[in-house]
Amino acid sequence: MVDLAQRGPLGLKTGKSPKKPKDPKPIRRAAQGQRCTLRLPGCNETPVNVFLCHMRRFGWAGMGQKPHDLLGVFACQHCHDVMDGRIRGKCSDTDLLRAHGETMMALLSSGAIVIVGS
Ligand SMILES: [Zn+2]
Repeated sequence: MVDLAQRGPLGLKTGKSPKKPKDPKPIRRAAQGQRCTLRLPGCNETPVNVFLCHMRRFGWAGMGQKPHDLLGVFACQHCHDVMDGRIRGKCSDTDLLRAHGETMMALLSSGAIVIVGS
C-alpha cells in the first residue's frame, strides 16, 4: 500500500520512483528564443530575454497560482513588467489580444500545441 507520494507504510520508500512526465512545461520551454509578441513602448526584445508571461484575470487561477500556460504570451522582461504593473506603462487588452494570437500561432507552428483531429 502506498500513499499519493508513492511512499510505503510510515513514509518508507518502496524502491520505485514515480514516473516523471515527458516535459512538464512544453509551452514555457517553447518561449525560449522566440520574439516578444507584446512589443510595448520600451520593448527590450532580444530572444534570450523572452519568456512565457501569464495573463491574470479573475477566475483564471487562484491566489498565488499561475493561470494555465495556454493563457500566456511570449514577452520580454520589460513588457512583462509593464503587463504585471511592476513598472509604468500602458498595456491594453488590445495589445494582449494581439500578443496572445501571435503566441498561439507560434506555438501551433512549432508543434508545442496540437489540435487533435487536424
Ligand atoms: Zn517586449
